Amino acid sequence: MRYTDIIVGCGSAGAALTMRLSEDPARQVLVIEAGPDFTDETVPDNIYYGREMSFADSDWGYRAEATDGRRIRFPRGKLIGGSSAVGATIGLRGMPHDYDEWEAAGNKGWGWADVLPYFRKLETDRDFTNELHGNDGPVPIRRFPEAELSSLQRGFVEACVAHGFDRVADHNDPAASGVGSIPSTRLDATRRFTTAAGYLEPARRRPNVTVWADTLVRRVVIESGRASGIELQRAGGTEVVHGDRIVLATGTVSTPFLLLHSGIGPAEELRRIGIDVIADLPGVGDNLVDHPRTGAFMVSRPGVLDRSLPFLQSILRTTSSGSQERNDMQYYMINYFDLKYFPELQMLSGASVIGGVMVCAQRPKSRGRLSLASADPDERPVIDLNFLSDPRDLVTMREGVRLAWELLNSAPLGPYLERPLIVNDTMMADEEMLDVYLHSSIDSTYHPVGTARMGPDGDPGAVVDSDCAVRGVEGLYVCDASIMPNIPSANTNLTSIMIGEKVADQLKGL
Ligand SMILES: Cc1cc2nc3c(=O)[nH]c(=O)nc-3n(C[C@H](O)[C@H](O)[C@H](O)COP(=O)(O)OP(=O)(O)OC[C@H]3O[C@@H](n4cnc5c(N)ncnc54)[C@H](O)[C@@H]3O)c2cc1C
Repeated sequence: MRYTDIIVGCGSAGAALTMRLSEDPARQVLVIEAGPDFTDETVPDNIYYGREMSFADSDWGYRAEATDGRRIRFPRGKLIGGSSAVGATIGLRGMPHDYDEWEAAGNKGWGWADVLPYFRKLETDRDFTNELHGNDGPVPIRRFPEAELSSLQRGFVEACVAHGFDRVADHNDPAASGVGSIPSTRLDATRRFTTAAGYLEPARRRPNVTVWADTLVRRVVIESGRASGIELQRAGGTEVVHGDRIVLATGTVSTPFLLLHSGIGPAEELRRIGIDVIADLPGVGDNLVDHPRTGAFMVSRPGVLDRSLPFLQSILRTTSSGSQERNDMQYYMINYFDLKYFPELQMLSGASVIGGVMVCAQRPKSRGRLSLASADPDERPVIDLNFLSDPRDLVTMREGVRLAWELLNSAPLGPYLERPLIVNDTMMADEEMLDVYLHSSIDSTYHPVGTARMGPDGDPGAVVDSDCAVRGVEGLYVCDASIMPNIPSANTNLTSIMIGEKVADQLKGL
């Protein structure tokens, strides 16, 4: 079989790309996924239901350095559906200025006016029908109605309103700032939407689509400057499969990892570890951006934690002091958060399940890096998030924790709080102490982007052009969160799916 398109990785972007590209019956599309391909009968509960994030199974098991040598769990979905199938189901778009910034950096066709049609195309918004929303796309978006909110969530909304923030009906309206129910990628109150169900399922019925799960791609095969195939492992053997076009949709960790192992990356660094250089692209693995997260946490009064509900239901989106970027902060009220996978916080807090107000900065200035420790493809990449390395992020996060602390201690939330964890009034007034807290609690929101970023001709850090073609190699493309030049002011799943939708249209025309 000769494939016209080989798509590596069937996650948020890869599944969308597969579905849209295969609408053209003249294409023969092979999509390859390292993780399992669950059926309705075999899908585990922790994937099927979206009450909380899934960390345990179907995960790559990565670790990353958060700050100052502190290593944290760094989950990435390893299954058909990718990280869309393990996430918190938050269905938010970025702000218009996020995408306009991409375009202003020279990435023609990626401004807000260009991407909005794809945000509309991908969704079926169940609450709004207007010029901002789509009503017949594969991704269902619903907001928790008042009746589904826990009393804790209602208390949070009241606390924010009492503090002076507006009530928001639609957080995906760029004009909105304030507090309200989270737009959620769910089929109903508890079931998670995944791109496996919404995009791959309809595509796989087509005769021109082949799906290989449990298949690990090792590297891209490049002959005379052209990507001609991929080397992969499946059923205990290694083989090379050829295609006219290769698209990496393996996400912000695996995409630079595969590029580097294929000889595409910073030349000196590759030579040092013994990998032959095919294309000298210093930007591969660089520009790693993620939303840093911490919060003001609490032990709740008995009876407050209700694990039949989703762990997050409402959000405050607001702007930090002096910022020109609206909605650059997010605050979530947590119904409950299981510390089973967070032993450090468990040890510090002396609690096993906590609540509280979580803070996530949306436009961090710090940049991290992904690199290889050696040429051994079995060795994990080195992931350095480098959080809080830019002093501006420290200022933003200090303000964030102080607001979270204020909200947590306000009258509407008082009835739910048994005792606060770690954070206290003394710390809020003592900057040095607060900084120690920030450095020891800062974690990832699991939204890494940017390690194979888009950029125009002449941009030394650009890995792909605005068609998402890898610079210096023919026939090789990237379609996933790694191409984002900067992180949007929102959780990254919808933007990743939007990339899948948009790149499909671009590739159809090439
Ligand atoms: C725990 C968690 C919670 C999250 N919660 C939210 C949320 O609530 N809302 C939100 O907007 N965003 C959330 N995110 C982020 C969001 O899910 C990601 O930004 C988005 O899914 C990225 O899409 P992608 O296509 O780039 O990568 P992925 O969706 O991760 O897809 C990459 C795919 O490639 C496969 N792959 C990788 N390497 C190989 C290889 N060598 N061979 C074959 N296959 C390979 C992977 O197994 C995976 O299926 C969350 C992420 C995580 C991990």
